Amino acid sequence: MTMHKIFIAGEWREGRGEPLISTFPADGSINAELNAASLEDVDDAVAAADRAWREPAWRDLPPHRRADVLYRVSRLIEARCEALAALQTRDNGKPLAEARGLVMSAAGTARYFAAACETLEGELPTPRSADVMTFSHYEPLGVIAAITPWNSPIASEMQKVAPALAGGNAVILKPAEATPLMALELAALFEEAGLPKGLLSVLPGKGRVIGEALARHPGVRRISFTGGTETGRHLAHVAADKLISTSLELGGKSPTIVLPDADMEQAAKGVAYGIFSSAGQACIAGSRLYVHADCYTAFMERLEEITRGLRVGHPETPGTHLGPLINIRHRDSVAAYVDQARQDGGHVRIGGQVPTDPSLAAGSYYLPTIIEGLAPTSRVCREEIFGPVLVAAPFDDEDDLVAQANDSVYGLAAGIWTRDYRDALRLGARLEAGTVWVNTYKTFSISTPFGGFKESGLGREKGRQGIHAYMQQKSFYLGLGQTPNPWCD
Ligand code: ADP
Repeated sequence: MTMHKIFIAGEWREGRGEPLISTFPADGSINAELNAASLEDVDDAVAAADRAWREPAWRDLPPHRRADVLYRVSRLIEARCEALAALQTRDNGKPLAEARGLVMSAAGTARYFAAACETLEGELPTPRSADVMTFSHYEPLGVIAAITPWNSPIASEMQKVAPALAGGNAVILKPAEATPLMALELAALFEEAGLPKGLLSVLPGKGRVIGEALARHPGVRRISFTGGTETGRHLAHVAADKLISTSLELGGKSPTIVLPDADMEQAAKGVAYGIFSSAGQACIAGSRLYVHADCYTAFMERLEEITRGLRVGHPETPGTHLGPLINIRHRDSVAAYVDQARQDGGHVRIGGQVPTDPSLAAGSYYLPTIIEGLAPTSRVCREEIFGPVLVAAPFDDEDDLVAQANDSVYGLAAGIWTRDYRDALRLGARLEAGTVWVNTYKTFSISTPFGGFKESGLGREKGRQGIHAYMQQKSFYLGLGQTPNPWCD
């Protein structure tokens, strides 16, 4: 066990806030103890960030030099993949194989935004008058608050830090209370890669205290948030009061649809992966399943069989499919939803309890669960559970299916399984979702924009425009004529 320092204004210091403990969800053992940031630490970090992004050494650095820092970070992450994945697993209990994937995706994100930084272009529009030339270029916003959840720290943190730094800003990262370690490790990597002091600070602490103070701080010019919809809504108000921009990646209750001509084996494995990987702790989890009535019985039998074969176990054991949930409190909230489903008349087809294996008793595990027979009005069909719980129902009419699939406050993602891409595109166009996966699920590409419709969020991350979100355009007009403006005549 180590006592961790936190990274403020380019220095490692004791936080001046409350004690904070990072525990291993597999057995509750303590990973690290630290003192969270205090309100004074927030002020220090913002003051240092505000100085640092204005420094000519950063502001006037040619883009390819700024990109160098991100390229170096990317290479460091790749070289240390195993150690970082192990840390990610300790921090939030994800199986090592998944953690490795997240680490490598973070390396790819740093590289992608380094390239976006190097190749960033302004605009040279053709003006409406021969007497003037105009151009627009992109400038940094200033100090960015990046507030992240516990489910995929290294990936969601890099998704904010890389484009923000690439855009010439300074970033203050507020990781989730449960998972402070990865953000601090990222700070160490950026320091090693030569990021000038003050451009990145990490402030572990309570969301309602440290996150709130950071978001409200007058020096912060953008809030980039990933987390729950209620917190996102609150932060949208904070941003509106300050008239600053915000991006919100929020919750989901994503529908997955199996059409009768689908490759049933591929679809069943894809559906299981879509909901049960990360033990369902993913905003994009495919948590509502609609299967065409013609194939419902056979499909559900196969899905049940696949689910029965999933290994729930220690996240460090190779071959584990589902590790523990983040903590016992969250596990209990998942269990409460399943109890609610039973009360609402649902049939728990498989799972619906904590595992009986005594070697898992100290961790916050829950079995992969499939529930049928629920009315679409049940809370279990409407609310984000953020656990390994799938609700399934048959359909036979496309209009009814679309109405049900879209009957949600959320609109993050959707899945469609069919061999016919004409059906997939027609159906996909009717779904209210920011991402539609066809014959795949939960696959990601950093070059493809990501974000939610409806209450699943505002703004997009990733893609070339991802860097623009952290910049503002300035337009110049250059007069070319010799005659004075006519107004004085
Ligand atoms: P989750 O359910 O994923 O934990 P939250 O929205 O509660 O979602 O938390 C996501 C992040 O937002 C965490 O870093 C948390 O500490 C932070 N947070 C929570 N409340 C606030 C708030 N009022 N202001 C700023 N950040 C907050």
